[in-house]
Amino acid sequence: MAMKEDLEKRIHTLAEWLYESRHLVVFTGAGISTESGLPDFRGPEGIWTRRDKGLPPKPMSRSWDSVEPNSGHIAIVDLQEMGKLKFLISQNVDNLHLKSGISPDLLAELHGNMTKLRCTRCGKKVDRSDGRTICGCGGKLVSSVVDFGEPLPEKDLGLSFEHSRRSDLFVVVGSSLVVTPVSDMPLEALRSGAKLVIINRGETPLDHHGSLRFNEKIGDVLPRAVKRLRRLMGLFE
Ligand SMILES: [Zn+2]
Repeated sequence: MAMKEDLEKRIHTLAEWLYESRHLVVFTGAGISTESGLPDFRGPEGIWTRRDKGLPPKPMSRSWDSVEPNSGHIAIVDLQEMGKLKFLISQNVDNLHLKSGISPDLLAELHGNMTKLRCTRCGKKVDRSDGRTICGCGGKLVSSVVDFGEPLPEKDLGLSFEHSRRSDLFVVVGSSLVVTPVSDMPLEALRSGAKLVIINRGETPLDHHGSLRFNEKIGDVLPRAVKRLRRLMGLFE
């Protein structure tokens, strides 16, 4: 009971901070997608575990197209629609943010996107389902997913750091923040005076910096905070 009341209180605080924020940056990791039924990315055969060993992802038993965004993804889209979200940084390659309706202009996909190919010459991203191998510019189209040891996409990385620096509220959703340079982004935000919120099951190295910490399921936190924010903004369903 006490835990529940405490959760309620923290959700209210999060909603108030979202309400006051002028430059909200949300940062997502695999944790948000496991709530969509995606395999545990950090499990023994998880995408990330394999990636860290330099192995490609194991083929999934169902197609990526059949995986749907969950209430956590939708809550972030709601923040976009309410004009609150200024930038979304994601470590995920599952396309669920774009599928849920996030504007490509507001999104950095630091590790690429399973459904997209990237032109080696002009950097343009093309849907894999188009079946093309050559870009309009003549460049070769290759997987946009960043393999272990490969550099992160420069433009996405640059934008992510820029928005981290400008942020006054930085919300980590489902990431254990163990991989650099991504773990530097919330630190960059903190240095600029931002409040840091961490919604993640399990510890992160920045827990002692977290102004507000949720160890609960994302789906039990973010949609409720957004609902409360909607009321604060005088918007009603
Ligand atoms: Zn091209």
